[in-house]
Formats: sequence, C-alpha cells, structure tokens
Amino acid sequence: MRVKPKRIKYKLKRYNVDFRLMPGWNHKRIDPYNGRSNFKGIMLHHTAGVNSERYIAYGNPYAPVRAAHFLVTESGKVVVMSGSGAYHAGRGGPWRFPRRGRDVRIPKDRGNARLWGIEIESLGKTRRVGKNEFPEGMNTEQIVSTAFLCAALLNAGRWSWRSWPVSRVISHKMWAPGRKIDVKQDIEWWHQVIGIARRHAKKRPELAASQIRTFVAKHPKGRL
Ligand SMILES: [Zn+2]
Repeated sequence: MRVKPKRIKYKLKRYNVDFRLMPGWNHKRIDPYNGRSNFKGIMLHHTAGVNSERYIAYGNPYAPVRAAHFLVTESGKVVVMSGSGAYHAGRGGPWRFPRRGRDVRIPKDRGNARLWGIEIESLGKTRRVGKNEFPEGMNTEQIVSTAFLCAALLNAGRWSWRSWPVSRVISHKMWAPGRKIDVKQDIEWWHQVIGIARRHAKKRPELAASQIRTFVAKHPKGRL
C-alpha cells in the first residue's frame, strides 16, 4: 500500500517506538519513486559496520536517496531515514507472501519499492544477541526497538485496524541468497519477538519490552 510519511510518524508514536527523524526524511528529493512505493512487507538488514547514520543518509553511492528507510542505532534509538522511498534490497527475489484469497507477489529485483528496509547497526560477525554482544552482534535493546518498529509498520501497511501477520517480515539473505548474509538470526526467531511487540507494544509497551528481553535471554543464539 502507498503509505505517507505522516502516517508512518503517527504509527510509530502509537506503537511507542523510540525514534527521531533524520533531517530531510520527508523531502521529495530523497525519494526515487516519487511517493509511488507500494509497501507489502519489511526487510531486515545489519549494517556490517558502525556509525552508519551519515553513510545511509548522505554517503552512500545513490545519495540523496537513502540506503534504508530506518536505522536502529547501538542504543536502540530508531532513526527514520525516509518516510517514502529508499534503496536497500537490490537484486533478488521474486518473493511471495501467502495470503488467503490471492498471494502477495514481489517481482524480481523490485524489493526497494515494495519493502521497508530496516538497518540494524552491527558488524554481523555473530548471530548471538545479548547485553554485551554489540558490535560483533546485536544487543538486546536493538532487538526490542526493531520489534516495536516492525509492529508499527505491520499496522501502518494494512488499511484497517488490523495488522499484517509477522510473516510479512523477511531478511535480506532470504531475498538475495548467496549474495547477502544479513540478518544472521533465523527468521522464525525474529517472528517470535516481533509477534510479542505486535500483541503488546501499543497498549502495554513495558510488558512487550520485558517479554522480548526474556525471550532473547532464553534464545541468545537467534534460533528457537
Ligand atoms: Zn542488507
């Protein structure tokens, strides 16, 4: 669905996402698709570096187009890089989200304009997640924030009070196997933490965060 920057900002607030807006996040000149991105799901990435904020916004080869829609920093703060278009998925696909009635299809190489891209700051050297795993891996607060952000987007993308199912979240390596390795954790593991946020982030954010922390402590290797 076409989702305006204003709706994204509204949904992030409703889902208690801890965020700030990168200057220019809603400017027309950063959007290669002129507001015609048609979102169907979410893609998870790790940055494979640290302090990526300026690179994603200004330093990437396609700037002023941004290299992701969102960045989750070391502290867990979400930075909204673009409320409209961005480049992040690249070559890959096609992909199909099963749906009652008719499946949702994303054509080959069209991931950028169909999927929100979330970059999580981490070197991606280990799949392990925990309090002290950053920068080789991800820390727990990054997982909490990413799950809340996904919950907000799963709701923003569907045109009713309902949210998309967690299966609308995929990793970059699922889109481009062989070419990409991010993110390292199993997608089923991600679906579990995002599911917790989807259920509780809006009305009981403290409960959601504590349940996610407990889950991560129990499954620190990013698999079930
Ligand atoms: Zn990636």
